[in-house]
Amino acid sequence: MPKFVPIKPSNVEVLFFYPCPVCREELPVISPANPTMIKCSSCGETFPIVPVDMYNVTYLKLMLSGGPAGIDQDFL
Ligand SMILES: [Zn+2]
Repeated sequence: MPKFVPIKPSNVEVLFFYPCPVCREELPVISPANPTMIKCSSCGETFPIVPVDMYNVTYLKLMLSGGPAGIDQDFL
């Protein structure tokens, strides 16, 4: 009989949301380090987005120890 042990996260990422200029749908992008184009999944519009500061993203990841420090205390 298999024993089910809850799995802890092994990594963490930071999602940024960019509003589509046409339909305002908020599109999730994982920490874009460079200027790029994205396509709206709702209306199909393609538009440029500004990149994020990777020093800040690295800081957030370090604060969470790459994931484990963000675990619910009841599950440690
Ligand atoms: Zn759109």
